[in-house]
Amino acid sequence: MNSNPIFGIHMQLYTTVRNLQKSISQNKQNGQKIAFVPTMGALHAGHLSLVKKAKQHADLVVVSIFINPSQFNNQQDLLKYPRMLEQDAYLLEQIDCEILFVPLASEVYPAGLNPELKLELGILDQVLEGEFRPGHFKGMLEVVYRLLDIVQPDILIMGQKDFQQFTLVFNMIRQLKIPVQLIIGETLRESDGLAMSSRNMRLSAEMRKIVPIIYQVLLELKNQLYISEIDDLLSRELEKLNASGLITDYLRIVDGISLEPVLNPKNHDCIVACVACWAGDVRLIDNLVLKGPLH
Ligand code: AMP
Repeated sequence: MNSNPIFGIHMQLYTTVRNLQKSISQNKQNGQKIAFVPTMGALHAGHLSLVKKAKQHADLVVVSIFINPSQFNNQQDLLKYPRMLEQDAYLLEQIDCEILFVPLASEVYPAGLNPELKLELGILDQVLEGEFRPGHFKGMLEVVYRLLDIVQPDILIMGQKDFQQFTLVFNMIRQLKIPVQLIIGETLRESDGLAMSSRNMRLSAEMRKIVPIIYQVLLELKNQLYISEIDDLLSRELEKLNASGLITDYLRIVDGISLEPVLNPKNHDCIVACVACWAGDVRLIDNLVLKGPLH
């Protein structure tokens, strides 16, 4: 455990698997329920809302901060990813998080460990982000699998902000029969609708003024779902996004479970609109449930 006073007196900070597991197993022996919130740091109110949710479901919350290199398909994105551990630890301490785990890559991926996962994912990791970030989901699933193996939580909390990631983790847990309950946390937004993201701090002042259009477009898709033809609706809203100065990777309306494109909303119980676009050199993603429930 790190006894550095900047991390306060309540929260325990671990950097090694061994020490983390020692502490967790002591707590488990005392009958405590463990919830786990994996993050890549640069924490904002969205992350903190997941920790608060975790606290409602468990006796002890473990948050990890690990910028997983294997899920970055773009080296520049990895290099530019914000790192602010002291501030993150301070924020977590303020909301009474019990354990912060900040491992080195060598702890997460020790030599000799073969993280190859055998999963039947169909199109789930191929569409949307899968089309634009090859290898991203493979790296993401590997790290979530490995972190679950390390922490062995009763509950895993993940945000709807990364809706496709949530869907993939949901399927992995089911297929591999991992004994953990997955709970979704809603997306926290700025007052103008922009989904909170660690990447937002890299937006230029000019782009920051433009990006609320992403949420406006998602709301418009929701309002128009049963009024316009889906193709017309999507091309109209896509035009709006691109005319604003953003460069859109995709804007889609998909089934919330299979991620197949939706042609007729009446044929689906759950529908989600998903978007990814570039605001200058910052890539943003967002989504909105148009017809629910999600899970
Ligand atoms: P990240 O640090 O970006 O890997 O995110 C860690 C977790 O926080 C993931 O489960 C995300 O889905 C979730 N998250 C990211 N942004 C938000 C947000 N604006 N509101 C709620 N949860 C979020």
